[in-house]
Amino acid sequence: MTRCYIGLGANLGEAQSVLLAAAGQLEDAAGTGTFRLSPLYRSAPVDASGPDYVNAVAEFDTALDAHALLSMLQRIEQAHGRERPYRNAPRTLDLDLLLYGDWHIDDPDLTVPHPRMHQRAFVLRPLADLAPGLKLAQGTLPDLIAACADQAITRIPDDPRR
Ligand code: ADP
Ligand code: MG
Repeated sequence: MTRCYIGLGANLGEAQSVLLAAAGQLEDAAGTGTFRLSPLYRSAPVDASGPDYVNAVAEFDTALDAHALLSMLQRIEQAHGRERPYRNAPRTLDLDLLLYGDWHIDDPDLTVPHPRMHQRAFVLRPLADLAPGLKLAQGTLPDLIAACADQAITRIPDDPRR
């Protein structure tokens, strides 16, 4: 089993419901063992237009290899009607493979660790909630979070009904 971290983002329609539904699908697919979902965050789009995003990170152990895991993420995106009209377009659901154990993968369709995660507050903040001691090649999470302090992001209060 390999511990993986998935970045979840949604910014169209009922973004929060979509994100929580996708997290449920990930949890089902992960099967037995650990599954944790970070708190939810609201962030302004980076390099893109459209409504604010809802973001979170999920952590679980998987028996899938990294490419099979990516395929699973893409199936879940498709199930939520993801379309790709143009780069960085608003999306109903975006699932990114952030980390896959300590693997480094550089394939045409898959780069791990995710190449932009270290500069995105909406990834780093929820990741730090789950795994505060994690270190990326570019630095510790607190240092990387401090470096993107200019990015507008707020934690969504926990819903007691969830
Ligand atoms: P982005 O998430 O960068 O805004 P997309 O979700 O449209 O863009 O992804 C575009 C492509 O990125 C996918 O077809 C996928 O093959 C590729 N890709 C490369 N590395 C990863 C990764 N670590 N996680 C998810 N997709 C990835
Ligand atoms: Mg993506």
